[in-house]
Amino acid sequence: MRVALALTAAAVVAAVATGAPIDGREWLLAGHLTQGGIVVGTAPPGTRSVRVDGVPVRLGGDRRFLAGFGRDHGPSAVFVARLADGHEERRTVPIMPRHYDIESIPSLKQPPPDAPPDPEYDARRRVELAEIAAARAGESDETGWTQAFRWPAHGRISGVYGSQRILGGVPKAPHLGLDIAAPPGSPVTAPADGVVRLAHGPFLLEGNLVMLDHGHGLVSAFLHLSRIDVKEGQAVKRGDTLGLVGMTGRATGPHLHWALSWGRERLDPGLLVPEGGNLR
Ligand SMILES: [Zn+2]
Repeated sequence: MRVALALTAAAVVAAVATGAPIDGREWLLAGHLTQGGIVVGTAPPGTRSVRVDGVPVRLGGDRRFLAGFGRDHGPSAVFVARLADGHEERRTVPIMPRHYDIESIPSLKQPPPDAPPDPEYDARRRVELAEIAAARAGESDETGWTQAFRWPAHGRISGVYGSQRILGGVPKAPHLGLDIAAPPGSPVTAPADGVVRLAHGPFLLEGNLVMLDHGHGLVSAFLHLSRIDVKEGQAVKRGDTLGLVGMTGRATGPHLHWALSWGRERLDPGLLVPEGGNLR
């Protein structure tokens, strides 16, 4: 189930950016101060560098930056700006908790604990994961992250961010993306500008995979494609076709799995696009 988020971008700005300015200096934070959320911030005038939760973030023109909060982020985040004179401006903001769709099936156990190891699979998977991690790792100056995101495909939402199954008491990995069910061959388009960092397959789980760098560490991944229409290194504009919906890799039906990462954090892409826009 889609979690209703009470805070619009404007409300967040109103709630967070106010507060008494400190020595006339203010932070502006627009977006979702929630688990899985993304904010576009403007640091106080005179800022030379910014850290969010202790991690340095890339500072763009006009002192703008991007920050994201993982699925299980704690109740607050700390923004610190270091000014030219060495002074630090600090702001602690609340991060709203989310309620995730957790399904427990006590009778189901999988896989059996004595499943034989498969060294060939493991070796191939290690290579794949390293390649995917490398595609996520960059922090480029691309500016797609400053745009209004569009839905990359149209169809019913068949899987939401953060959901998790507990089988026989064992929690499985949470679902860290958004599933859009669509007929095979439906176009998958770029939700925002970016540069293609990875475009091939099939990967064991992801199938045919495209990863798009929107800049400042924000990277979209599009999984299970039946066809890929872009090349690594290619610059694409919002709305350009990346490939076609399919069910390559581990998928039980044709759908697009859209994942969004910011550095090591896995974010909820559904928070960036207009609610209901998936049904066109
Ligand atoms: Zn999925």
